[in-house]
Amino acid sequence: MERYTGKKIYEGIAVGRIAWLGKKEQVVERKHTEDTEAEKKRYEDARNEAIAQLRALYEKTKNEIGEADAEIFDVHAMMLEDDGYNDSVNNIIESQQMNAEYAVAVTGDNFAETFASMDDEYFKARSVDVKDISERVIRILSGESEASVDASEPSILVADDLTPSETVQLDKSKILAFVTRKGSSNSHTAILARTMNIPAIINVDVQESWNGKTGILDSDKGIFIVDPDEATSKEYNDRLEAQNQAKKLLLELKGKPNETKSGQKVMLFANVGNLSDIGSAIQYDAGGIGLFRSEFIYLGKDTYPTEEEQFTIYRKAAELMAGKKVIIRTLDIGADKQCDYFELGHEDNPAMGFRAIRICLKRPEVFKTQLRALFRAAAYGNIHIMYPMITSMSEIEQIKKIVAEVKAELKEQGVPYKDAPQGIMIETPAAAVITDRLAKEVDFFSIGTNDLTQYTLAIDRQNAALEDFCDVHHEAVLRLIEMTVENAHKNGIWAGICGELAADTSLTETFLKMGVDELSVAPPSVLKVRKVVRECD
Ligand code: PEP
Ligand code: MG
Repeated sequence: MERYTGKKIYEGIAVGRIAWLGKKEQVVERKHTEDTEAEKKRYEDARNEAIAQLRALYEKTKNEIGEADAEIFDVHAMMLEDDGYNDSVNNIIESQQMNAEYAVAVTGDNFAETFASMDDEYFKARSVDVKDISERVIRILSGESEASVDASEPSILVADDLTPSETVQLDKSKILAFVTRKGSSNSHTAILARTMNIPAIINVDVQESWNGKTGILDSDKGIFIVDPDEATSKEYNDRLEAQNQAKKLLLELKGKPNETKSGQKVMLFANVGNLSDIGSAIQYDAGGIGLFRSEFIYLGKDTYPTEEEQFTIYRKAAELMAGKKVIIRTLDIGADKQCDYFELGHEDNPAMGFRAIRICLKRPEVFKTQLRALFRAAAYGNIHIMYPMITSMSEIEQIKKIVAEVKAELKEQGVPYKDAPQGIMIETPAAAVITDRLAKEVDFFSIGTNDLTQYTLAIDRQNAALEDFCDVHHEAVLRLIEMTVENAHKNGIWAGICGELAADTSLTETFLKMGVDELSVAPPSVLKVRKVVRECD
């Protein structure tokens, strides 16, 4: 087993036979010619043939991949119609009395060099395009066929380099991945790989001797493995299966409504812990962010994040989601999420201890900093604020008092902010039981089934030894969920679920029957749940 490293161009895992894209080194002979007119005519014919090929490639790509990606071939054809390029070829033929192949090769090299030396990544990447068109014309002039790959079965394509035209002409159903030595992330080959949804990696020390061997590409880690051992093969085959499943769902369900056969709709949102998860939420077509666990901002630091730091993150989240709901939960520190600088001290039973809203109410300066950042960021999108670990009406009263102070201070200081809907997590049995009263005080409920289950069943969610006792479908928890939704609706507010149970597709139908309005799950689970929703009556 050999391991090589490279740079990711497009994410994904691929396992399969390696096919080496054999390219004959184009050897261009420098020949003297007396009949320069005949040579110019040969160039003209070859150029026209190349333009015709490129137009055909444009059509093929437009139909199979899309217009945006087809455009490169239009650009190639235009390059061949460019006076500067043609004049250069004809000049070399005429003034130096050289053969057409040589004139095209020299012109191609000169133009490529000019592009490569430009101080702009886009133009730098065009250098490969001009080489591509020159090679095409030379191939036509010398009657050579295009580079070919022996890929009778779906294969990982390994090559020194890949031009856009080679890439697009390959039979997509036969390509598992691209692994090359050369290339750049801004090249059209890279763009095509992304559009074709094919994992790709560059800067790998590729070798022709790999042809026919088994390869594994782990693009995310920038690793290419040749001749994997059994354990590695098994690991990657398992990961590949999971990836294929996710990809399939993604393709089928992106953009489709979360609607049952009878037309009942549900909001499908994503749970995130940071801004990069939001990219994933968008990728998996989440309708909003149902739970932004803001404590991860605190956990990743040595000291309290400032108002400004938090404001920047919340504002970015709101902007990224472009008007869709972004439900940010205020600090839920404590219990399993310990943060040294909070100096919470030892507790015999931290899960039932000083955590979440309890800390915020006892340390209003910490709470106020976060609330200021949240209300300020609310001016940039559709931010909702959510309070965790609520157990009583009195906590709501205290929160409201602090919120009123924060808003008054912002107003007085002339700091721009916007009001935001405020909801609570229903994750203690106490809160669930009094949802009829709580619903009158807040804008929405989101049920945290992870804690609701732990507190209802008296099972520490951290204790793996209790696994056998933990019935996640326990009737008591389901009844509390039903009751919460009922009380929400009776009072004209919505109720969702953001605990792990929201992604348990064996319960999706049950939740829909209860009238749950929103399910918030890990980003890659959004489409999995959508699939089940759409299968429900
Ligand atoms: C929950 O308790 O269900 C929840 C979503 O919050 P966390 O898992 O962060 O405690
Ligand atoms: Mg919780």
